[in-house]
Amino acid sequence: MFDTLSKWRQRRLLERSAIPDDLWDEAVGLLPFLALYTDDELRSLRDKVVLFLDAKAIVGARGHVVTPLQRVVIAIEACVLVLHLDLALYDGFENVIVYPGEFVPDWEWEDEAGVVHRNDGPLAGEAMPGGPVVLSWPDVEASADWDEAGMNLVIHEFAHKIDMRGGEASGCPPLPMSMAPDVWKATLASAYDAFCARVDRDEPTEVDPYAAESPAEFFAVLSEVFFADPLLLRHEYPEVYAQMALFFRQDPALRATQLGFSYEPQD
Ligand SMILES: [Zn+2]
Repeated sequence: MFDTLSKWRQRRLLERSAIPDDLWDEAVGLLPFLALYTDDELRSLRDKVVLFLDAKAIVGARGHVVTPLQRVVIAIEACVLVLHLDLALYDGFENVIVYPGEFVPDWEWEDEAGVVHRNDGPLAGEAMPGGPVVLSWPDVEASADWDEAGMNLVIHEFAHKIDMRGGEASGCPPLPMSMAPDVWKATLASAYDAFCARVDRDEPTEVDPYAAESPAEFFAVLSEVFFADPLLLRHEYPEVYAQMALFFRQDPALRATQLGFSYEPQD
């Protein structure tokens, strides 16, 4: 439990379980979007990663061996979302399970109408309420470079995890007292409707059309964009961007501008 971890224990843990510099540098080098973070932020991200790795087991499945580099890469991407939030948002589950490729879940679930569903297609990642985050390593690796992939699997699944703090993923995670749920819901819903209309008209979109799948997927995909390509999100959906900046307590687009980046439409 992160919230019950005393400051003393935290300090001890940070000293004892420090990540070696070369391992940290190699992991950061695989994640070019971290160029948007200041040195201070990277230092505090590194501390969060140590605490995250102490609390979670990142385990291989179906013969996959999780290397130290893979653990750190996954932990960094998970911790980017909570860099300015409490790690306790990730309480309530123990494991991140890593497969050597896409996997077919063999569980069934019942929806609110009592209909039993079963996954039949292979998945690259999955987050379950109260359960583990499941990832395919090749998909984590392929989506580490946003400019190449236009997606980030780990940020996506951990955004679902945060959303699921309120139960089933709905696109509306539990908000801090300082934020108005009505404003969040109305802002996200109007952007979602506009986005779905564009996808229905087969218009090209800068954001992955998978976001039209449901409000929960919209939130998870837009969280990827918020962290990995914030200038794009602020350009496409400024009001959603503003809500997310309040929620995640960071303004990566502002940092990007200060660092000299500017929004460039794709061809
Ligand atoms: Zn999803």
